[in-house]
Amino acid sequence: MVTVGVVALQGAVREHARAVQEVGGRARFVRTPGDLAGLDGLILPGGESTVMARLARGTGLFPAIRAALDRGLPVLGTCAGLILLADDVADPGALEGLETVGGLDVRVRRNAYGSQLASGVVPVTAANRTTFSGVFIRAPRIESVGPGVVVLATRAGEPVAVRQGSVTACAFHPELAEDRRFHEWLLSSTAPV
Ligand code: GLN
Repeated sequence: MVTVGVVALQGAVREHARAVQEVGGRARFVRTPGDLAGLDGLILPGGESTVMARLARGTGLFPAIRAALDRGLPVLGTCAGLILLADDVADPGALEGLETVGGLDVRVRRNAYGSQLASGVVPVTAANRTTFSGVFIRAPRIESVGPGVVVLATRAGEPVAVRQGSVTACAFHPELAEDRRFHEWLLSSTAPV
């Protein structure tokens, strides 16, 4: 059975673990570098990137995730997870000076789709032109993508799901919807949308 780690510092950890189990995988909570050993994939959940970065400080977890990512471990980041994976955060705010993971050649802006009140379910268009519902909660906007980044899905023409090599990230929360394609991708390594 495939084992997928879920970074379990804060946020939608249980929802991702449940989604992994629903698609036939085993979920393992990841809090230390040692928890990464032998994983087939890794999820960085949504939540609050600044809180996660503070909790990870001094543990060596983020550099260990980056090393695993650079070795080709399939990684899925959602919302705050996207922010932590981004090489460039336009307005770091409380993230300023804190270590993140990086490795995904995108520029993101935190909370750029509005506050909690502006959050909700919004139609998203996949690259194959099918549409599905994305759950956006104080979501980051992907302001630019590097040349090696493939846009998997858009919201009103703007990228909201991207892939670079073995790293996939989305501004919305697939674990909070019925859609399991992103989790299936982690188990199968085929493109989610
Ligand atoms: N705004 C949050 C952050 O900056 C992300 C929100 C989310 O993950 N739902 O980390």
